[in-house]
Amino acid sequence: MKLDISAVLNGEVKELPFNFTENVSAEMADIYFKGLDLEASGDIEVSGKVSDLSGYYGLDCKISLPYTTHCSRCGKQIKSCFELDMKRIASAEERDGDEGYIVYSDRKIELDGPVYEELSIGFPSKPLCKTDCRGLCPVCGQDLNEGDCEHSHNNNE
Ligand SMILES: [Zn+2]
Ligand SMILES: [Zn+2]
Repeated sequence: MKLDISAVLNGEVKELPFNFTENVSAEMADIYFKGLDLEASGDIEVSGKVSDLSGYYGLDCKISLPYTTHCSRCGKQIKSCFELDMKRIASAEERDGDEGYIVYSDRKIELDGPVYEELSIGFPSKPLCKTDCRGLCPVCGQDLNEGDCEHSHNNNE
């Protein structure tokens, strides 16, 4: 996802809308989604704009990724779409450790790294099928969302 921002840098436009839809790269997923129960079930979509904000350039976009995962309590498969916003200030210089910035070089912003990073940070490490999922009975494995078993459970846990 290389975004050419020449038109904004040249002052031709004040706002440059963009939209990328791409296959999830297996290589990037290996690096960034490691340790997460996250399987992409569709394309990554990144859409937004780069704006000339008098003196600096702002990137504002929405990232979405359809995925499948499993509930960390009951193990049920969850299919959903993960969405998050990303806002950055575009800078021509490398700014180590400053997450508010995104670097452009040769008038282009390489979005891949920042997009995958944002997804990996934002994705829940313990996904739930619903916030009050009761999980499985540790003794017999009964799905407690579907009903109680003969064992006692503390519902407040
Ligand atoms: Zn669950
Ligand atoms: Zn039980």
